[in-house]
Amino acid sequence: MSVDGKHFFDALIVGGGAAGCFLACELARLRPDKSIAVADAGDTTLKKVAITGGGRCNLTNSFAAIRNLREAYPRGDKLMRKCLSVFGWEDTWKWFNSEGVELVLQDDNCVFPASQDAMQIVRTLQNLMRKRGVRVFSGERITAVSHEEGLFTCLSSSGSSFCSKALAITAGGATPSILSMMEGLPVSIEKPVPSLFTFKCPDPLLRSLMGTVVGNACTSIAGTKFSSSGPLLLTDWGLSGPAALKLSSYAARFLSENEYKCTVLVGWMGDLSREETASVIGKLLSSSPKKQLKGVHPEGLTSRLWTYIMGKAGLREDILCSEVGAKGMNRLVEVLCSDQIKVEGRAKFKEEFVTCGGVSLKDVDSSTLQCRNLPGLFFAGEVLDVDAITGGFNLQAAWSTGMVAARGMSSFLGAL
Ligand SMILES: Cc1cc2nc3c(=O)[nH]c(=O)nc-3n(C[C@H](O)[C@H](O)[C@H](O)COP(=O)(O)OP(=O)(O)OC[C@H]3O[C@@H](n4cnc5c(N)ncnc54)[C@H](O)[C@@H]3O)c2cc1C
Repeated sequence: MSVDGKHFFDALIVGGGAAGCFLACELARLRPDKSIAVADAGDTTLKKVAITGGGRCNLTNSFAAIRNLREAYPRGDKLMRKCLSVFGWEDTWKWFNSEGVELVLQDDNCVFPASQDAMQIVRTLQNLMRKRGVRVFSGERITAVSHEEGLFTCLSSSGSSFCSKALAITAGGATPSILSMMEGLPVSIEKPVPSLFTFKCPDPLLRSLMGTVVGNACTSIAGTKFSSSGPLLLTDWGLSGPAALKLSSYAARFLSENEYKCTVLVGWMGDLSREETASVIGKLLSSSPKKQLKGVHPEGLTSRLWTYIMGKAGLREDILCSEVGAKGMNRLVEVLCSDQIKVEGRAKFKEEFVTCGGVSLKDVDSSTLQCRNLPGLFFAGEVLDVDAITGGFNLQAAWSTGMVAARGMSSFLGAL
């Protein structure tokens, strides 16, 4: 209903991204009798979903490699445990299947549409909203939210105003404009900082290794407990690949506080301990005493990387294996297990970039995602202080929190 330029709905969802559109679809299914609208700032909904996973949309993960949920969700693991028990990755699989989307599970546990086309996910959600009667208002950037006598009013930059009995904020990563929109609402905000970035390293020798991939490296931040492991990619600016991205996610706040300056310790031999590494090197040296060390690099390390490691251990390029000696060997093991790499900044990861921080979880009821201090106000998706590493976990958070909020809103509206 619209009166004097004001639109009235039972439920309004601010932000038509993954979480908002999913929430809208589910709320419309649960409450076909209620009027539901989505207001989105963009010229169309789900713009980010369209570019996820390099245009293929890594929409969830089988969690098979996750031993502890905190590994996947450095912020919000407890909330996610609860939300995943309501709507987990298998439910996501079934949900999209039932909407006609065939999915594939890759060897790395990531799930994609079989079409390898993120637009299929976008169209599925958009069609379902249309089918279930959800009104979508594009180009409506909500700038202020107020609540009076049981009614929420959202003002948009275009001059429209939307009134609703229930309101969900699903506007994505907490940018300054989203924070200013939420000013006045009774929720505290965990300071937003970037997560999932790569590390800029000044060392020209390291940069000269551009294109080198180490299948399994360990990374950690000197003087802290933050550590990660996985494939590491050396680029023309520094460290990238899963082992670097995960580390950036685990240490997002620490790194922001330290202005992205730190020393990253790289273990080039993956999970091998110092003793195991020393044994591998000892065997290499003793099996080829007359050969040059640079010609007998350990398995998994390229000869370019091995030459760099030898250089950092202070060994001449033409040194023979028999000349390395105990001191040389100790230095090699030290660099192989704990190479100190100076980091002087961060670079945005082109594939994925999420915000750590947002609406504090202590202000929302974890079983409904309703604001503890203002009934009728709900949150879902990245606007919450929940974020994940790469691999489909962020979109799974959007689906799971979207589902929990949809059920919470449905109960709220049903009780009015
Ligand atoms: C390049 C890239 C690739 C990614 N790939 C993956 C991937 O493959 N797998 C994965 O799991 N995650 C991926 N992510 C992360 C994932 O996209 C997000 O975690 C997810 O989209 C969050 O969903 P959301 O609905 O909370 O926010 P968003 O999808 O960001 O949606 C928020 C919506 O709110 C709208 N909005 C913002 N402010 C306002 C306002 N004031 N008024 C009205 N509307 C507003 C925006 O226009 C937007 O449509 C990727 C991220 C990026 C940037």
